[in-house]
Amino acid sequence: MQDAVVVGSGPNGLAAAVTLARAGLAVTVFEGADGVGGGTASAELIETGVINDVCSAVHPMALASEFFRRFELERRIELLVPEISYGHPLDGGRAAIAYRGLDRTASELGADGAAWRRLFSPFTRDGGRALGQSIGASLVGIPRHPLTLLRFGLRALRHATAAGNGAFEGEEARALLTGVFAHTIQRMPSLGSSAAGLALAAFGHAGGWPIPRGGSGAIAGALAGDLVAHGGRIETGTWISSLDELPPARITVLDITPRAFVELAGERMRSAARYRRFRYGNAAAKVDMVLSEPVPWANTQLREAVTVHVGGTRAEMVAAERAVASGSHAAQPYVLVSQPTVLDETRAPGRHVLWAYTHVPAGSGDDPTESIVSRIERFAPGFRDTIVASVSRSAQQLDSHNPNDVAGDIASGAVNGWQLIARPTFGPHPWATPLKGVYLCSASTVPGPGVHGLGGWNAARLALRTEFGMTEGPDLSYSGTY
Ligand SMILES: Cc1cc2nc3c(=O)[nH]c(=O)nc-3n(C[C@H](O)[C@H](O)[C@H](O)COP(=O)(O)OP(=O)(O)OC[C@H]3O[C@@H](n4cnc5c(N)ncnc54)[C@H](O)[C@@H]3O)c2cc1C
Repeated sequence: MQDAVVVGSGPNGLAAAVTLARAGLAVTVFEGADGVGGGTASAELIETGVINDVCSAVHPMALASEFFRRFELERRIELLVPEISYGHPLDGGRAAIAYRGLDRTASELGADGAAWRRLFSPFTRDGGRALGQSIGASLVGIPRHPLTLLRFGLRALRHATAAGNGAFEGEEARALLTGVFAHTIQRMPSLGSSAAGLALAAFGHAGGWPIPRGGSGAIAGALAGDLVAHGGRIETGTWISSLDELPPARITVLDITPRAFVELAGERMRSAARYRRFRYGNAAAKVDMVLSEPVPWANTQLREAVTVHVGGTRAEMVAAERAVASGSHAAQPYVLVSQPTVLDETRAPGRHVLWAYTHVPAGSGDDPTESIVSRIERFAPGFRDTIVASVSRSAQQLDSHNPNDVAGDIASGAVNGWQLIARPTFGPHPWATPLKGVYLCSASTVPGPGVHGLGGWNAARLALRTEFGMTEGPDLSYSGTY
């Protein structure tokens, strides 16, 4: 019998595999796609020599995740940290800017600067570590940083209701914050959007929102390299459709959704009701572009931002997300833009790369290109003329590419208030399943979506403790090679 098998090589699957291999176990990863990385892969999607991020592009959690801190990701790959964490254009050439520096952000927000500083300063003093550790842990039980969690919870609750409207006087600060809340693709205000958004925004003032030189695939490369260096094996091009197809192993870790778990488990699972109750959210639809020139943002500061939230005012974003939540395509949709070549010239020597997605109803088959282009054009007149080539993926196509993105839900499960803690089930060990030795680790588990590896790390440590009696997690540090 093998020690451990892992299904899926997304950041969580690889983090689980690395943790198990570092504990001395023989590990094999089975990945259905032709390459490793899942949501953190890069590829030449449009033309040879131009690197695009297939899914994730910007990595606030690469610096904030306790798993990546211990894995010493920063020593293994080059993380480029922009001065501007995210920018937000408004009409008339105006923009609101969240700098990595909290002081500079606050001073440019004028009358709202003091409120912005009060909102985030408790979470940035230690570089975001206490918040990062709180997010990585199961939310049931005794918290490691109770004061941080309490302060964070109170702020998230205030911004989960219309009371959040009163937090700022000006449109700049309101739009800036709402643009981060909108990442969760749901009706706003809501607890899911405020909790996830506040954490992302806090990390923007702690370590920043970096991008890896050479593309997000560098993160997958570092994880896969460490795994192989510690005796692990990866078999790509192998879709698993039943747990019976896997070699017998003491530990099985699944980087898949609860829906897929029920399918793969088949008859082995007596009662699947708790996994069937898990809800999936609305969707994204994406474009990747090669540009001849940088995006000609009317506000010239945005030309230095890697991440730009194109959503207009707070009211416009609330209306757009409400439309999507009701099953319609928004007339003025929210668009998340990354322009990595602002910092990383290796992605497209002599050219520029644009990565963008918009929010659409689950399962939408619509090509998002025109709605994304016209939305950006509003704040960057002349943008259309810079486009050399582009490819798009509808929500349906995102699902066909990776079954974890159910109907285009790139969070692998709605990030609503309940599923922040009951992810996928409520309890101290949400990664455990009713099947002996079988664990779930995907973004459908605590702490949810994003490239942080925490689901995998937590699932693997729980498995090591339960199945092998290992109470200490293994050392994950970088030895200089792998
Ligand atoms: C378009 C898009 C943009 C995003 N942008 C960002 C971003 O900028 N920053 C950020 O932090 N996050 C972003 N995310 C979210 C992030 O990519 C995911 O939350 C993260 O990758 C989840 O990791 P995971 O390991 O749980 O699953 P995934 O990364 O989804 O990996 C799952 C892997 O398992 C494989 N698999 C599934 N089922 C099977 C099976 N039955 N047999 C074999 N293999 C299987 C899949 O092929 C896949 O490789 C984005 C996601 C998408 C889709």
